[in-house]
Amino acid sequence: MIISPCQGRIDLSKLDTNAKLGLDKDTVEKQMLDAQQRVASLQHKLWAENKRALLCVFQGMDASGKDGTVRDAFFLTNPDGVKVTSFKVPSAEELDHDFLWRIHKAVPARGEIGVFNRSHYEDVLVVRVENIVPESVWRPRYAQINAFEQLLAANGVTILKFFLHMSRDEQRKQLLERIHEPDKNWKFNADDFEKRKKWDDYMRAYEDALSETSTEHAPWFVIPADRRWVRNYAVAMIIAETLERLDPEYPRLKLSELEMERLLSQ
Ligand code: ATP
Ligand code: MG
Repeated sequence: MIISPCQGRIDLSKLDTNAKLGLDKDTVEKQMLDAQQRVASLQHKLWAENKRALLCVFQGMDASGKDGTVRDAFFLTNPDGVKVTSFKVPSAEELDHDFLWRIHKAVPARGEIGVFNRSHYEDVLVVRVENIVPESVWRPRYAQINAFEQLLAANGVTILKFFLHMSRDEQRKQLLERIHEPDKNWKFNADDFEKRKKWDDYMRAYEDALSETSTEHAPWFVIPADRRWVRNYAVAMIIAETLERLDPEYPRLKLSELEMERLLSQ
């Protein structure tokens, strides 16, 4: 793997948001197409096999590039087999249920790739930092999430979780673009600047979430996200390698010689 999954206690300040992972931009630009093709052709087999599913969870601060990363990794993939769900502030109906209710409904079916743009992790991140519920409610959620993900894994869902790790300075640059560039104005949200003031609190919440919930069946990857090309390539490669490990197969045609003869003679 281009990046190892998180293990043990995570200290985000020690992980470089600007890392190049030993890659150079020109080579990556050429190899990206190959990675995208691998994802696309393996997705086709996964879909045809119709036995297992892949779930990719994306988390990151505002403007860390969750949308762009998803778009790039699945650029060549048949949209029919990829289901993207963006989790926003929960509705009144969603809040009337447990926090995993809306999540479970969006888990990919056999044969599908599911993408979560934000996820159940918001319930131990924004919910914690903004004091939406007390610690006595959010703290037990790590164990609840681990049990939930274990259930999915035991039922044929392979889970990958990506934290897009950007620096506070890079976020500033990206948020300012939402003000200055007309085609990005629609993304502007004054609330993002409010959340930015609590950067350290968010990093602490992310460190706890990554440390508590990176498991063998649902590993976290910290993706350096300041350089778009490193970020997108690293994610595409991890997805491609994971699908290769799953090794989905096209189902074989099962026809007896007699049936075959009958069909061919028609
Ligand atoms: P970008 O990264 O491009 O800014 P986004 O994912 O922030 O995109 P928005 O529509 O701007 O998309 O915001 C969604 C908001 O919903 C986020 O601020 C997120 O924290 C919030 N949210 C998601 N799940 C929950 C939850 N369970 N409780 C409270 N807030 C939530
Ligand atoms: Mg936002």
